[in-house]
Amino acid sequence: MSNEFLMKPVQSIKMVGPHRAATLQKLGIFTVQDLLYHFPRRYEDRTRLTPASACVHGEVATVRGTVLAVQNLKPKRSLTITKLAVHDGFGIFYAVWFNQPYIKKNLTPGKIIYITGKVDKSYGTTQIMVEEYEIDDGQDKLSTGRLVPVYPLTEHLNQRLLRFMIKASLDELKNQVREILPEKIISKYNLPALETALPAVHFPNLEKDAVRARKRFIFEELFLFQLTLAVRKRDISNSEKEHRYLSGGKLLDQFLKKLPFQLTASQIRVWEEISRDLDSARPMHRLLQGDVGSGKTVISAMALIRAAESGLQGALMAPTEILAEQHYLSMRDDLSAIGVDIGLLTGGTRKKERERLLERISQGDLKLLVGTHALIQEDVSFQRLGLVVVDEQHRFGVRQRATLGYKGNYPDTLVMTATPIPRTMALTLYGDLDISIIDELPPGRNPIKTYAVLPGALAKVFTLISEQVYQGRQAYIVCPLVEESEKIDLKAAVDFAAKLASVEFKDFRVGLLHGRMKSNEKEEIMSLFRQGEIKIVVTTTVIEVGMDIPNASVMVVMDADRFGLAQLHQLRGRVGRSGHQSYCILVTNPKTEDGRARIRAMVRTSDGFALAEEDLRLRGPGDFHGTRQSGLPEFKIADLLRDGKALEAAREEAQALVQDDPYFKNNESRTLYEEMKLRFDADHDFIDS
Ligand code: ADP
Ligand code: MG
Repeated sequence: MSNEFLMKPVQSIKMVGPHRAATLQKLGIFTVQDLLYHFPRRYEDRTRLTPASACVHGEVATVRGTVLAVQNLKPKRSLTITKLAVHDGFGIFYAVWFNQPYIKKNLTPGKIIYITGKVDKSYGTTQIMVEEYEIDDGQDKLSTGRLVPVYPLTEHLNQRLLRFMIKASLDELKNQVREILPEKIISKYNLPALETALPAVHFPNLEKDAVRARKRFIFEELFLFQLTLAVRKRDISNSEKEHRYLSGGKLLDQFLKKLPFQLTASQIRVWEEISRDLDSARPMHRLLQGDVGSGKTVISAMALIRAAESGLQGALMAPTEILAEQHYLSMRDDLSAIGVDIGLLTGGTRKKERERLLERISQGDLKLLVGTHALIQEDVSFQRLGLVVVDEQHRFGVRQRATLGYKGNYPDTLVMTATPIPRTMALTLYGDLDISIIDELPPGRNPIKTYAVLPGALAKVFTLISEQVYQGRQAYIVCPLVEESEKIDLKAAVDFAAKLASVEFKDFRVGLLHGRMKSNEKEEIMSLFRQGEIKIVVTTTVIEVGMDIPNASVMVVMDADRFGLAQLHQLRGRVGRSGHQSYCILVTNPKTEDGRARIRAMVRTSDGFALAEEDLRLRGPGDFHGTRQSGLPEFKIADLLRDGKALEAAREEAQALVQDDPYFKNNESRTLYEEMKLRFDADHDFIDS
């Protein structure tokens, strides 16, 4: 079926015994295929041979010559120097090894040798400190006189040995490789066949051969990955939901009539996409993406209303208690105005209240529920869950998103995120979801002015805040709070707030908000801030996501370099939510180059997508969203930043293939399917774990 030889354990290669196999395992290499898919990190050009006399002091060069004589010197007890005299056809030079006395016996006079190493001309002679050498025995050269592959290594393994093992497996492989990519794709993208690409990626004759081979493996990897997503999507769209939405309900119209604004064109467009999903017989799996402040909440409310008016239940899940409360508060009045009840369930909900809510939910008497992840705890059972909205998705593990799904029978799922995800990321993380994008802000918003200031200039910042407050506006001051130094940070924030309240802002009411406070205390502060009683709120990052107080016009971020770009952008998004001019002040004296780069990026642009790309560049895809558990697969050769074009092509081809042959019936796609399962885990479970 698939490539049998490739499936064999590495030990089946002659020169790999149990010991070497154990070493290779540390690199995740178990099979011959793993070994051959251990791609070079780069290539070193050792094709140009220089006469030793022409080499430049201090540079690395490759020289070829005939062995004249060799000796081991022992100037000290702990040091052996092996010194080799070589004639390169022009003159004599010396090659030097340290503490490898056994090398001497390989170097009998008359042998032809290639040597790569650093050139030293300080003693009137030419010496080369050997990094690598190779005896020319008329066979293929691996480590010198060519483009030499340089691999990621592990302990007890060196480049030379790895090259030998890879070469040995390539030799044994001859004529046993079957192509795994469909013929059509190979020719459409002008990719080299697997059979030629494997030797070319490891031991290319010319650089362009390596480039072509790599292009193939990049495409192959992305294509197989996109196939897993296409299969997932196939499964989703094959399932049928049991619930249906009523059409022609009056509640949504009533709600829209009462809205104090008109939906933007983008909002109307995404709503159409969402309604179509709701009306379809298949469950919705949609990602709603929109920059901070673009108005996603009202869209989710509209979807929830349709569920309620259809006799279905809807759940809205938010990442923090404060945000859940805010959603609850902002929807409660608008919803009760049209006669729809909504409940709030968080970790802070009192026991009695909680029991009452659970009761109403399980009987179906309460239709809509907002909450934190408390919503997915096991004792919450919905009577007829039709719709699940997950806000600020990146804060949840993908598994949590899945768990809520199990509470209903294929409920419709809408995932909302304000983290602008670069397109390549979105296609990779959410390739199984349909994507809707709100790409405009509501009209009448002034661009936020962003400044970076040194801590020494805080007095000016306070003046700005006072001026704004006198004009009727409000301000946030955010202090960083990182887990490792949580206690110290918390104390610093508390002291800072106290000082501001009694000195700089003694004329205004200042509130403190942090994650350690009880939920009713937090709610109290928030509602005073919302009502405009509290003018300035000093907070730790709990306000990061989703807070919506349009009257706030100043966002001050202390020690701003301690925040990631995505977080800073989120924070800035808390202001600029009305027609008033807003300000974002980053107070910082960055100590690292990355810190400086983040601040520069923030000052330069307020385009969330541009910032996301920048973030990706600074941190690398592995670190995207701050944690490894973002669900992104680890690629061996593809790089999402660099290979965006290939990714899009791979995605298109994968979708087309699954469309044409959904169950991989024909031979070519069968082979692909096997390969996909092999590379990306049989149950496609990787994305949920
Ligand atoms: P986000 O997408 O960040 O969740 P919100 O849903 O919190 O954004 O919306 C930000 C603010 O903009 C809210 O105060 C909301 O009432 C308001 N808003 C939403 N849509 C519009 C619109 N079409 N016109 C004017 N204001 C709007
Ligand atoms: Mg929001």
